[in-house]
Amino acid sequence: MAQEDVFKKIVSHCKEYGFVFPSSEIYDGLGAVYDYGQLGVELKNNIKQYWWQSMTLLNENIVGIDSAIFMHPTIWKASGHVDAFNDPLIDNRDSKKRYRADVLIEDQIAKYDEKVEKEVAKGRKRFKESFDEAQFRATNGRVLEIIAKRDALHARFAEAMNASDLDGLKQIIVDEEIVCPISGTRNWTDVRQFNLMFKTEMGSTNEGASTIYLRPETAQGIFVNYLNVQKTGRMKIPFGIAQIGKAFRNEIVARQFIFRMREFEQMEMQFFVKPGTELQWFEHWKNSRMAWHQALGFGAENYRFHDHEKLAHYANAASDVEFRMPFGFKEVEGIHSRTNFDLSQHAKFCGKKIEYFDPETNESYTPYVVETSIGVDRMFLSVMCHSYEEEALENGETRTLLRLPAALAPVKLAIFPLVKKDGLPEKAREIMHDLQFHFKCAYEEKDSIGKRYRRHDAIGTPFCITIDHDTLKDNCVTIRERDTMRQERVKIEDLRGIIEEKVSITTLLKKLK
Ligand code: ATP
Repeated sequence: MAQEDVFKKIVSHCKEYGFVFPSSEIYDGLGAVYDYGQLGVELKNNIKQYWWQSMTLLNENIVGIDSAIFMHPTIWKASGHVDAFNDPLIDNRDSKKRYRADVLIEDQIAKYDEKVEKEVAKGRKRFKESFDEAQFRATNGRVLEIIAKRDALHARFAEAMNASDLDGLKQIIVDEEIVCPISGTRNWTDVRQFNLMFKTEMGSTNEGASTIYLRPETAQGIFVNYLNVQKTGRMKIPFGIAQIGKAFRNEIVARQFIFRMREFEQMEMQFFVKPGTELQWFEHWKNSRMAWHQALGFGAENYRFHDHEKLAHYANAASDVEFRMPFGFKEVEGIHSRTNFDLSQHAKFCGKKIEYFDPETNESYTPYVVETSIGVDRMFLSVMCHSYEEEALENGETRTLLRLPAALAPVKLAIFPLVKKDGLPEKAREIMHDLQFHFKCAYEEKDSIGKRYRRHDAIGTPFCITIDHDTLKDNCVTIRERDTMRQERVKIEDLRGIIEEKVSITTLLKKLK
C-alpha cells in the first residue's frame, strides 16, 4: 500500500475509534484545530505522563511549573517573537490560495530529489542484476545534472532565508517556474512576512485594552519564572524547569492532520547551566531525549538527528529528533542551546537583574540554557503511525491493530464474560472492580469473543481476559495477549501482578536509568 494511503487510513482510524476528531465538526470543522476523543485523551495523557515523570522523577534537579497562557505583552517583544516570529507568505492571484514561500521552494527541491530517484529506478530496470547503484549515482550524466541544479537551488534558498530576503525568495519562485498546485498558474503576489502569533485584547476598551498574544511556545513562561523557582526552590545550577501546556501558532498552511496545528501542546524543559558548559549539556540532552524516544521500542532505524545549519539568532547549537512518518522523516522534537539570550533580554526589558549567584565561586552570572521542546500532538501522531497495522492472519483474514506500547495504551485490560448469564457477568464485574484501581479496564459482554478481541486490537488494548464457566470453579481466566494472540490460563489473584508490570509507566522509565 502506498504510504499516502496508509496515512489516510490512520487518520480515519483515529476518527472512527474516538482518538481524534476535527474540531467543531458539526459546523464543518475549523482549519488545523482538532479535538481528542475518549481514547485519544487517554493516550495523550499517558504520553504526557511518560514525559513528565521522566523529567521530574528521574532528575532530582528538574522541577515543573504550570504558567498562564496570557502573559505580559512585553515578554514577546523581549523574546523577539513580535519582530521575528514570521513565515514568508505568497498568494496565487488566480486560486486565491496562500502558501508559505519557503515550503513551495522546499517542495521544488524535493521534486529534484524525486527525479534523481526516478533515474535510479530506470537504471535499475535497464541494467538488472549488474546494476551498481552507488556507481550510477556518482557517474550518470543525467543524475549529476539534476543534483547540480538541486544543490544550486538549495544554496540560493539558504542564502535568501538567512538574509530574510523576501524579493530573493520571490525571484526563486519565478526562476524555478513554480506553479500553484490548485490553479496551475504562475500569477504570484510578492512575498510578505506573516507573524504567526494570535492576538487578542485584555480588558474593556474603556479602561484601555491592551494587546495580548496567545503564547506561541511555553518556554517564555519558564524564563520569566526562573528567579521565582530558583529562589523558592533553592535550586542550584545546573537545574531544569519543565512545563506542559498549550501553544498557538497561526500557521499559514496547515497540513498533515495533527502534525501542524494552530492550537497544539508542547512539553518543554529549560535546563539552566553555567556559561561554557552548555555544549556538553546539549550533547547530554540530545542523548537523553533520544533514549526516551527509543525506549518505546519503535526501532532505532526510525529516528535520526537533524543538526541545524541555519541557527536561530539566539542559538549556538540546535538539533531535531526526526521520526519516520508515512510522509517521510519529520521533526518531532527540537533540542536547542539557547545561550543566555532569553534571560538577558528579559533582564533588559524588565529592568531587573536575572542572574545566579554561585556560592562556590562567589560569582554572579546569567545562566545559559539548553532546551528540549517536543510537541505532544506530533508525538501522538508518531505513536499512531508506528502502531497501526493491518495484519494478514493465517486463516486468510486481516486484523487491524494498534501495536501501542502497553504503557501508553488507553485501555490496559478488557474483561469479557463468555456469556451474559450463569453468573459470569457478575464474576467479571467483581474482577473489574478489583483491578480498576490499578489500571484502566473496560468491560464488554456484547458480541462473540472473537469480535470483542478485534475491537480491542483496533484500539491497542494489550490484554483481554475471558471469564468462562470453569472460572467459577477454578478461579482462573483466559488471558490473551494482543500482539501474539497467545492465550493462557492464569489465576485471578495473579492478574494484577502479570498486567501491572507490563502496562505501568514505571517499566518504561526503568529502561531509561
Ligand atoms: P516546524 O519547523 O515543523 O514548524 P518548529 O521548528 O517551528 O517546527 P519548534 O518551535 O522547535 O518547532 O517547536 C518545538 C516542537 O513543537 C516541534 O518539534 C513540534 O513537535 C511542536 N510543534 C511546533 N509547531 C507545531 C504545530 N504547528 N503543530 C503541532 N506541533 C508543533
